[in-house]
Amino acid sequence: MTELNQQTTYDDNNIFAKMLDGDIPYHKVYEDDKTFAFMDIMPQAEGHVLVIPKQKAVDLADLEPEYAAAVLMTSKKVMQAQRQVFEREGVIQMQLNGSQAGQTVFHYHVHLIPSSIHELGRHAVTQADSNDLANIAQKLAAVIDA
Ligand code: 5GP
Repeated sequence: MTELNQQTTYDDNNIFAKMLDGDIPYHKVYEDDKTFAFMDIMPQAEGHVLVIPKQKAVDLADLEPEYAAAVLMTSKKVMQAQRQVFEREGVIQMQLNGSQAGQTVFHYHVHLIPSSIHELGRHAVTQADSNDLANIAQKLAAVIDA
C-alpha cells in the first residue's frame, strides 16, 4: 500500500487559523459568523478567492454540515461578485482533500477562481502585489454588500 503523508489532525498554527485569529494580514472579501472569504496570495488567476469555515476542519471529512452549508452560501455570494466585477461567467470552484490531491494548507478551503478549465494553471510561485489584492478585495466586497 502507498504510504500517505496525510495530515488528519487539525494544527492550530496553520496559516488560515492564524488569519482567523487576526495574527497575519489578509485581504478580506466577506465574513459572517460561520465563514470567512479572502484573496488567495498566490492566485491561479486574477480574482482568486478562498472561502473557509470558522470551524477546525482539516478537509471535507470533518466539515460539519452547518459549516458546509455556510461555506456553500458564501461561495455563491463570492462567485456572483466575481461574475459582476470581472464581467465573466466562468468561475471554477475547486477544493482539494489531502496532500495526495495537492492540498497544502490543512484548514478546509474552497477555491473560487475566475477562469476556465482550459486556462487554469498552477498557482503562482510568487505572491501577488498586495495593493492589487486589496483593490480587488474591495471591489468584490462592495458588490456583496450592495
Ligand atoms: P491548497 O493547495 O491547499 O488547496 O490551497 C492553498 C492556497 O492557499 C493556495 O492557493 C495558496 O496560494 C494559498 N495561500 C498559502 N498561503 C497563504 C497566505 O499566507 N495567505 C493567503 N491569502 N493565501 C495563502
